[in-house]
Amino acid sequence: MSDKNIIQITNLTKIYGDGVLIKALDNINLTIERGEFMAIVGPSGSGKSTLLNMIGILDTPTHGTIILDGVDITQASEKKRSKMRNQKLGFIFQYHHLLPDFNAAENVMMPLLINGIKPANARAKAHKMLEEVGLSERISHRPRQLSGGENQRVAIARALANSPDIVIGDELTGNLDSKTSEKIYELLRKLNKEHNQTFILVTHDERMAEKTERIIRLVDGKITEDKTT
Ligand code: ADP
Ligand code: MG
Repeated sequence: MSDKNIIQITNLTKIYGDGVLIKALDNINLTIERGEFMAIVGPSGSGKSTLLNMIGILDTPTHGTIILDGVDITQASEKKRSKMRNQKLGFIFQYHHLLPDFNAAENVMMPLLINGIKPANARAKAHKMLEEVGLSERISHRPRQLSGGENQRVAIARALANSPDIVIGDELTGNLDSKTSEKIYELLRKLNKEHNQTFILVTHDERMAEKTERIIRLVDGKITEDKTT
């Protein structure tokens, strides 16, 4: 595998259920290069979240392989998978997953502390990340003191704090109005360019998908389109 391919997915199938079987992913083949800024689109139930969860090492496939940065995560031990998840991946959650009793800086510090970074260094990194998302003036604010768009920026700073190679988000602007969503996508694009991290964003919003460089379309668990925008 070429080093520029950060993700190589081969013949990936996911079947759910033990009585009635649901083929959520049906023989997916997909190569993603380092630094790509892409979207996965498709109707509800088409397998978008399932595919993203496989890439995020949150679930395991029924058949097929996924190679992340040279490591076959479908064959790796649970210990190795967990290490990869913590070190290589950044998950942008919807902002309501922020911890309400902690301020912006503390929310961003959390994954760093979990990864064993010293509190002083974690705080410095959190401040830097909040500055990058335009929230220098809001580091001591708690989620309820911030707007939806601001909280989504905190969630982005949190996902990027560990400098992950791969950043993933599932419907991350789902609760925001379209103008705020657009700003969030512009911010993600800026961060993608500056850090050369790979961004994979699931959305059902075609307008947001058009803001990325590559759109993968899923229908019934199959890729029906792979276009460069
Ligand atoms: P999307 O994110 O595109 O809306 P999903 O990946 O969530 O689609 O789901 C794809 C299909 O797999 C759907 O039919 C869904 O009902 C089914 N599915 C998803 N997760 C599970 C699960 N944990 N157990 C059983 N079926 C599931
Ligand atoms: Mg989904």
